[in-house]
Amino acid sequence: MIVILERDCSLKNKAGVVRFIERQGGRPLVTEIGDETHIGLVGADALALAADLAGMPGVAEIRAVALPYPQVSREHHPEPSTIRIGDLRIGGDEVVVMAGPCSVESKDQLSIVGAAVADAGARMLRGGAFKPRSSPYSFQGLGEEGLVLLAQAREETGLPVITEVVAPEDVGLVGRYADMLQIGARNMQNFRLLSEVGAQPRPVLLKRGISSTVEELLLAAEYVVAAGNPRVVLCERGIRTFETATRYTLDVSAVPVLKQRTHLPVIVDPSHAAGDRSLVGHLALSAVAAGADGIIVEVHNDPDSALSDGKQSLTPEGFSSMMDQLRRVAEAVDRYVSPPNEVVNGPDTHHSLGRSHAFSLADPLARTNPGSGPE
Ligand code: PEP
Ligand code: MN
Repeated sequence: MIVILERDCSLKNKAGVVRFIERQGGRPLVTEIGDETHIGLVGADALALAADLAGMPGVAEIRAVALPYPQVSREHHPEPSTIRIGDLRIGGDEVVVMAGPCSVESKDQLSIVGAAVADAGARMLRGGAFKPRSSPYSFQGLGEEGLVLLAQAREETGLPVITEVVAPEDVGLVGRYADMLQIGARNMQNFRLLSEVGAQPRPVLLKRGISSTVEELLLAAEYVVAAGNPRVVLCERGIRTFETATRYTLDVSAVPVLKQRTHLPVIVDPSHAAGDRSLVGHLALSAVAAGADGIIVEVHNDPDSALSDGKQSLTPEGFSSMMDQLRRVAEAVDRYVSPPNEVVNGPDTHHSLGRSHAFSLADPLARTNPGSGPE
């Protein structure tokens, strides 16, 4: 339920409404929308309070919200949210690209990949230190040592780092090193973990569960926000369908659907959806065209020797080619992707360089020619 105050409601009356809701055991969520004040009501029997609230001074209207995720819904917060990380804004005009290896493996690996993705225009560095693996015998990540390497790579590259946290008891540890905490697909409904990341200040990237609906993703986000942390970004990363030609099936339609239903930024992970590096660029372009606020992509300096997800990892060259294409698609939808770092021949060179070196994503044989397609 949302209480809408009169436009000229005095501060005293506003405070009266807030106090009344709190006294009845509810939590008032105050949002200023234009020159209107909306007070969302969660955690109390809203219907029982409606009649009393309707008669209070300063109250213009009571609106019922049927959605079970009031705090992340667009109804409560019609304007899109942007999440700030240093000078980076997720959810604005920039399509934010996060890139890096699936797993942090060594100092050298992270330095090489970190420098390469930073040069190509990535704005955040990804890398898993705690890995949720299907098999208990697979590489589980370097743990805290991996977090230390990520923090060093942040110093080297200037990029904020994002890494996954898999257990509630690790949230404090991971938060000491990382700029953003990732909740992986397998943990989307680990409600204790969601509440734990909701009770700390770092922004959270919440990935959609492998078999989760859009509504379940939004409810999971509501857990984080309800625990006190509004800095949540959602991630579509492919869902399990009957199709086996790709690792998962990228649900591109989830991007506009989510953006209709929530004010939170939405990004896409084309790497885990595709499972094969020859497809990653195609999915990334579709994500940007569909309105994604960013993408998170796996890149490895030697994918064939990667300790996890090598098959779907782009080479640095493939990543850089993909970025050139992403810039053009972003421009077509009135957004932009950060330019590459190295300036070759003056400020306009990148654009034309990108075009003249553009590979054909439409060419299904791109994978057989390393120079012509995303690796
Ligand atoms: C990852 O980002 O490496 C990962 C494990 O992702 P997901 O949780 O989407 O499978
Ligand atoms: Mn991975």
